[in-house]
Amino acid sequence: MKIDWIKKSREGVQIKNGLFYIDPIYPVKNAVITHAHADHARPGHNQIFATKETIEIMKERYGANFCEKFTAYDYNQNFKIQDINLFFAPAGHVLGSAQIVINYNNQRVTFAGDYKRQYDPTCLPFEPIKSDIFVTEATFGLPVFKHPDANTQIEILIKSIQKFSNRCHIIGVYSLGKAQRIIKMLRNKGWMDTIYMHGSLVKICRLYEKFGIDLGRLEPATVKDKPEKPHEYYKGKLILAPPSALSDVWSRRFPNPILGMASGWMTVKQRAKQRGINLPLIISDHADWHDILKTIEEVSPKEVWVTHGSEEALIYACKKKNIKAKALSIIGYESDTDI
Ligand SMILES: [Zn+2]
Ligand SMILES: [Zn+2]
Repeated sequence: MKIDWIKKSREGVQIKNGLFYIDPIYPVKNAVITHAHADHARPGHNQIFATKETIEIMKERYGANFCEKFTAYDYNQNFKIQDINLFFAPAGHVLGSAQIVINYNNQRVTFAGDYKRQYDPTCLPFEPIKSDIFVTEATFGLPVFKHPDANTQIEILIKSIQKFSNRCHIIGVYSLGKAQRIIKMLRNKGWMDTIYMHGSLVKICRLYEKFGIDLGRLEPATVKDKPEKPHEYYKGKLILAPPSALSDVWSRRFPNPILGMASGWMTVKQRAKQRGINLPLIISDHADWHDILKTIEEVSPKEVWVTHGSEEALIYACKKKNIKAKALSIIGYESDTDI
């Protein structure tokens, strides 16, 4: 199938000679953004097209002047950039995350962005859209990645908190998406205790609440204002922090903590060990190998393009199914930043 109106460039994928770009890495005139993770949503573009949740998260992170102009859309709301028709479809990755569905020249190309198929109570589920070309990520695009049902991991966490009630648990989570998903899943399991948070998680949690996602009792994980020594106060408590804070002096204020990490990479035992993680929780906001293949089947494209991740294995698997496939190898989508 011949498509000459989409090209890969330094900035990322460009449509119609730079009329607009998808998740561009460098500042451009028109940027269509899949979701607000920092590697996809960068400040400094002239005009941004995104879902309203993504726009709000970008404002919160980058300040009101993050771009000159923005236009926010609902899911499934059709819009045009010149003569190109587009709409956003849910991607199930984080709040506001979207696939970009482009209809032009009697061809449909869907950019999935980052996505997952597992249940997430904080965002709409991924909607498979039949397309001629499906542009997918492959962060966990190897057969070794088979994420367990996240509920089983939440149960492991609750059991560990109950078992080690004389210690505190500090769990490394990414500030956008993972933190809120874990909090909400704990709440849905009836775990209603106050959850303490590193300062960098507070803003995005508040924003999720503004969009109607009730996260229950949250408090900053401070030590100075506690009536008892932190040592005593945080016994049996759960603290969420960005992964970087786990190895930082910040975590040393809580004596004898159990360090956990919620990430798809926790499948790789060596990674957990390297980071000194006692409690690895395999909870990912990306599709695993099986879910990527299932999604390709449902989208039933003539061609698959892989943006980043384990491209070779996925291309091989597509070719075995007689689907044409190629790697875009886009540099700049850090598969490590928003796992
Ligand atoms: Zn992401
Ligand atoms: Zn990403």
